[in-house]
Amino acid sequence: MTPSTDRNVELFERARERIPGGVNSPVRAFRAVGGTPRFVQRAEGAWFWDANGQRYIDYIGSWGPMILGHGHPAVVEAVQQAVLDGFSFGAPTEREVQLAETIVKLVPTMDMVRLVSSGTEAAMSAIRLARGATGRKHLIKFEGCYHGHADALLVKAGSGLATFGNPTSAGVPPEVAQHTIVLEYNNLEQLEEAFARHGADIACLMIEPIAGNMNFVRATVPFMRRCRELCDRHGALLVFDEVMTGFRVALGGAQSLYGRAIPGFRPDITVLGKVIGGGMPLAAFGGPRAIMEQLAPLGPVYQAGTLSGNPIATACGLATLEQIAQPGFYDTLAARTQSLVDGLSLLARSEGIDFSADCEGGMFGFFLLPELPQNYRTVMTSDGARFNRLFHGLLERGVYIAPALYEAGFVSAAHTDEDIATTLEAAREVFATLR
Ligand code: PLP
Repeated sequence: MTPSTDRNVELFERARERIPGGVNSPVRAFRAVGGTPRFVQRAEGAWFWDANGQRYIDYIGSWGPMILGHGHPAVVEAVQQAVLDGFSFGAPTEREVQLAETIVKLVPTMDMVRLVSSGTEAAMSAIRLARGATGRKHLIKFEGCYHGHADALLVKAGSGLATFGNPTSAGVPPEVAQHTIVLEYNNLEQLEEAFARHGADIACLMIEPIAGNMNFVRATVPFMRRCRELCDRHGALLVFDEVMTGFRVALGGAQSLYGRAIPGFRPDITVLGKVIGGGMPLAAFGGPRAIMEQLAPLGPVYQAGTLSGNPIATACGLATLEQIAQPGFYDTLAARTQSLVDGLSLLARSEGIDFSADCEGGMFGFFLLPELPQNYRTVMTSDGARFNRLFHGLLERGVYIAPALYEAGFVSAAHTDEDIATTLEAAREVFATLR
């Protein structure tokens, strides 16, 4: 196809005239890997078709939400019904109550939830709530974890051990970042030091329990145990950002996995997004009643939204949760994801390529490194140029993975054994060119 007949190229040129970088969220622009983003025309099950009519097996699934695949009939029907009932009222609906009831039943560390429209909004609001509930200023976050683009969270590690961070974005005044302590993920020493120095001022520690924004890095069990103990000892709140892992790695989220490994384990506040909206703009944050009742209109912590609990998004989320709560759903999903990860590992190893991979439920990650990394510093030693060749090799063969080496991948219930086999065949060919 010549550039003049390639509709992706044409659309990208037009997009760049009117939308900064041609995209409405930066990672879509293929900046890290180069080339032209695929403009999606339509999607069905595990596939989407681009503007040229080329079909791809989709391992991004809208960056996580599409756990059932695209266009699941029960979800489409629920959305169609909701559209007929009305788009938005700015007044409460029964579906919001049902969704809140369903979420707290599935994630029992929460008594109450508040629905919002994006993960950014949920994480930002959770921090305000933690600060309001504790009367403290500081928050701990970890390098490589992404919690959306609220000012206080766009902060990178400071230069010294357990120091305050620097803004990673222009437009964030250093004063806003000055209350954010950025630590290395899985680094017990830094964690201890931060609490020893600042414990009395720390409102919350926010963490991605499995960091999908570093591709796939698990917080170790001893590290998570210590996070909980130190929060308890110093009166700080443990905030689990499960925007990506919630309903994705297990029905009860990553917290259910840590709960199995650490008796009595629970986060104080949970942040959810992605899967709970099933592809519609919906997110939530929740926790124990005593904390959640600090929110307006009951308490002093203000939070609101014109489209919060939007009826169509709520219907989509409810229908999605109903499907994933069916017995055996995660066993099948996890087995399929595991077969992809095992297949890729075997193929890479047979070509002598450094490769490590991990997965949980319907989420996976891989690194062009001999061993799984435990922190951002090590993730970034992965071979970027080689990853880009792998990415484009797969793309040319109709397999769409995240266009950046630090992003996780997602398998949906619509991916079949045949899709996995097709993917592995493509990977076999591409790995052979990477030696
Ligand atoms: N938290 C995590 C762990 C995420 O992965 C993301 C987005 O990818 C967010 C928060 C922000 O969510 P949103 O993009 O819906 O604002």
